[in-house]
Parts: sequence; C-alpha cells; structure tokens
Amino acid sequence: MEPTAANADLQRAAKDHLWLHFTRHGVYRDHDVPVIVKGEGAYIWDSNGRRYLDGLAGLFVSQLGHGRTELADAAAKQAKELAFMPLWSYAHPSAIELADKVASHAPGGLNRVFFTSGGGEAVETAWKLAKNYFKLTGKPMKHKVISRTIAYHGTTQGALSITGLPLLKQQFEPLVPSTFRVPNTNAYRAAEMTGGLLDGSDPEAFGRWAADQIAVAIENEGPDTVAAVFLEPVQNAGGCFPPPPGYFQRVREICDEYDVLMVSDEVICAFGRLGHMFGAERFGYEPDIITCAKGITSGYAPLGAMIAQDRLMEPFLEDGAMFAHGYTFGGHPVSTAVGLANLAIFEEERILEHVRDNEGAFRSTLERLLDLPIVGDVRGEGFFYGIELVKDKATRETFTDEECERILFGAVSKGLFAEGLYCRADDRGDPVVQLAPPLICDQSHFDEMEQVLRVVLDKAYALL
Ligand code: PLP
Repeated sequence: MEPTAANADLQRAAKDHLWLHFTRHGVYRDHDVPVIVKGEGAYIWDSNGRRYLDGLAGLFVSQLGHGRTELADAAAKQAKELAFMPLWSYAHPSAIELADKVASHAPGGLNRVFFTSGGGEAVETAWKLAKNYFKLTGKPMKHKVISRTIAYHGTTQGALSITGLPLLKQQFEPLVPSTFRVPNTNAYRAAEMTGGLLDGSDPEAFGRWAADQIAVAIENEGPDTVAAVFLEPVQNAGGCFPPPPGYFQRVREICDEYDVLMVSDEVICAFGRLGHMFGAERFGYEPDIITCAKGITSGYAPLGAMIAQDRLMEPFLEDGAMFAHGYTFGGHPVSTAVGLANLAIFEEERILEHVRDNEGAFRSTLERLLDLPIVGDVRGEGFFYGIELVKDKATRETFTDEECERILFGAVSKGLFAEGLYCRADDRGDPVVQLAPPLICDQSHFDEMEQVLRVVLDKAYALL
C-alpha cells in the first residue's frame, strides 16, 4: 500500500477493528489488507491506484458492472422519498412493483415473492416454508431436506445444514438436523463418483444416475419425512457443475412422484448469469421454489428473495393463517427500488441477449487454456466458469493438501491478483479457479482473463 497518511490510517483501522468474512486474519499480521476503493465498468481499483479486472463480479453480484449512476440515483431517490418501511403487514410501492416484475419473469406458477436481505435468508425461508406448507396440508412429518455434496447454500444454521461442505460445518455442529446429501453432477469425476459404473462419456446416463440418487435418498429417509430438495442450476462450489441433459427433468419427475418440493437455489444463477433471468428457464424445468439474491440489484443494495408457486401460498390465504417469518430489512425500499432500476437496465441494454451472444466466445477463449498441462477441465455455462487444476492431466490426479496451500492459494491466487485479475481460487472440492465476470464484459475482457491466467498457471505448474 502506498505509504500515505490516509492509507496508513486505513490499514491500522482495518487490522484493529474490521473482522473480515471467511478470512485467515493471520495472513494480515505481516501483509497489508487489500483495500478496494473504486469501481468502473468491469474494473476495480485498490487504494494504491492499481486496476484489476473484476473476474468474479464482486462475488457473483455485479451483473451490470460498477459505477452505474442510474442505480445510485434510484437508491438516493428512494431514500429521500421513503427510506424505510418493513413488509410486516404493510407494503410499499417498490416492493410491490418488484414482486410483480420478478413474478412476470419467473417460470410458470412461480408468482409469490417473499423478500429477504440476502441469499442465505432466502434458503432459510424456503426450508421453513416447505415445513410449514406440509404441516398445513396434512403431511406434518415432511420436514427433511436433501441437497448435493460440496454444494454451498449459505452460513445461517439452517442454510449451513443444507450445505454439503463438511469442513465449513464442523466448527458449528450440531447444526439443524434432518438434512442429507446426494451426489452432484461433476461429470469430470463421474468414474470416481459412480464407482466405475460410468465414465462420463454418456452425459444422459450420468445425469439419470445422479438424479436417481435423489429417489434413493428419499426412499432411504422415508418419503413421508422428506420436504424438499435444494439444487443449484449450475453448482458453484467444486467449480461449476452444469447439469447433464435430462437431469432436471428426471429430478422433477422424482419430486412429483414423492411429493417433495424442488427448490432451485439460484442465488448465483439467476439474473443473467446463465443468459436467462432464471437458471431453471435455461435448463427447461419448473421448480416449486426459487431462491435468489446477489444479481437482483447488481450489488447496489442488498436484497434476496424466495419465489414460490401459487399453490404453496394457498394455505396461508385462509382466515387466521400466517407464515410466521420475516426480516426487518427484507424488501428494504432502497433495495427494491434499485432492483427495479436494475431490471429496467437489463431490458434496455438487452443484457440477457448479450450474455447469450457472447457465451460461446467466453467458453472458447477459456478453452484455449486447455493446452496448459495444469488445466484439467474448463466447464460452465453463460458467464459462469470453473477451471479445474490437476497435477497430471492423463490420470486427472488432483493436488495434495500441501499443493493446494502452496500452488492454489500461494502461486495462483496471489499471482492472479498481482497480475491484475480479481477472481477466486477455491479448494472446497478439487482445486479450481472460478470466473464470473460482470455481464457487460466482451471479448476484450475475455482475452485479458485468458492472458493473465495463462501466465500465472504456467508459472504455477513449474512449482508442482
Ligand atoms: N446459496 C447459494 C447457491 C450461494 O452461492 C450463496 C452465496 O454465495 C448463498 C446461498 C448464500 O447467500 P448470502 O451470502 O447472500 O447469504
């Protein structure tokens, strides 16, 4: 960091008072905390004036990029007019209008929008709704949740219980009981996952197998006890696992057969990330509930939502009935006003079309990296990609824990930032680099990402 007095004060205060999220604070005993001070378009700047390409849209959030005055103005206008009103028995216009807008985009009968402050709260809300709905409709034992291995669904105790990452959970056990894991759709590791039964060369067969594991889990737990299955359209943790063809159609059949609610956790995949308003639309399925957040405001204010099928609200429309659940800041007027302005820009600037028109170019630019010996797999959809790193491409041998520390977090993560690319190295499954740039990016940004990755990954391989 530049040794100016202001920077020194910021560093001191950051180190003494700010508790960062998911951060090894020990790292900052001898190093500066990176401080990001400004954003414009697809770029961010740190307090030293260095520029970085925002290859992760913040955290899968900044769909329209940084520095959009229209969104800042929408927030200011709303704050001046009505800064706060909760959605507890009262409504306010921007929440009503955004609910109407979101419902108009959501598939089929997904017409009821319950706002939250973020994604984890949306996941909590969906689980509570599933339990409450079945209690009111004569199946009071249905309460359990099935989700997929390595999937991330949030940090609150219910959402964390649904999360399939044991290392994230162990410090907080016991969590909310009654959640169970089934395999994800990691086609690159199909042989290991299926015990050699399938090798991933027949995607339909692998998808059928993976979906059928949900039916097996429901049978094992007892269909009368299972309320919901939570799945992302493209699973993020583990490095972008798209669904094999037919996967979600088979999951839909299973959910219908066992009367289990299908929850599409679209906290990342909604609002253009996959070139559609909702990921479910991209893959042609209609869930019972969608959870979303992040891109709904492009990050100019915090907001999340649970979108439910009409039939799930019906029991709550009876006299005296109530879904006894809510958040003070869920559907905050400033956030919903920003959400409306955000979706208006999506239409004006044809953001979904832009992603669909450019996703092929993004894919083929990243696939150029497959010539590097350390790049095992490049996978994803839309503007959402994971690059899996391997020690040996032929055997698909992955890194040891020591190599993850030294190569992934040492060389790759630090190297990318030093070379001007902000993105994420992740070892929650096998080691991956995750890319999810703002949806306004074009070929020049794709090339920049590829060039930085090529330099850094090449150097990293030499250290293996
Ligand atoms: N669900 C999914 C699929 C997510 O990716 C996330 C966050 O990244 C969450 C839930 C939790 O969202 P939040 O951090 O807004 O609580």
